[in-house]
Amino acid sequence: MGILSKIKKWLPKRKPPEYKNNIPKEKETIRKIFGIYCHSHHGTEGDKLCPKCNGLLATVFTKMNRCQYGITKPICERCEHPCFGETATKDFREIMSSSNRKMFLRHPIMTVRHKLASIGFDYMKMQQQKRADDKAKAKSKKAESKKKK
Ligand SMILES: [Zn+2]
Repeated sequence: MGILSKIKKWLPKRKPPEYKNNIPKEKETIRKIFGIYCHSHHGTEGDKLCPKCNGLLATVFTKMNRCQYGITKPICERCEHPCFGETATKDFREIMSSSNRKMFLRHPIMTVRHKLASIGFDYMKMQQQKRADDKAKAKSKKAESKKKK
């Protein structure tokens, strides 16, 4: 056995890139926000939600499991292709944004994490846009220099 292969054996193997599955956390956040909203708007208590909110939550969770983006999905309230259907999406976004303050008071860390996920998504979009712009610029530059020749 050569010395190189011996060294290689002792080196840690490179791990494949890991995608974090944030869906369970997002679900937990959504469930909490739904609870806060439903308790204060529909007079429910404890772990219970009214039938309407329960139905909406079930729809949201089912759709999340089937999300076309898989585990790399953006958080649902920022998604550009919401799959809940028009009415459900509107209701969902309303609930998610209406309980921001109360949610923060009760679950500050969770709220901040959720907010960061939202900001992260904006940042990713911005980077994507920038890359697309750069590409377009490079292309038009190339076309121009061709014309000059
Ligand atoms: Zn409700």
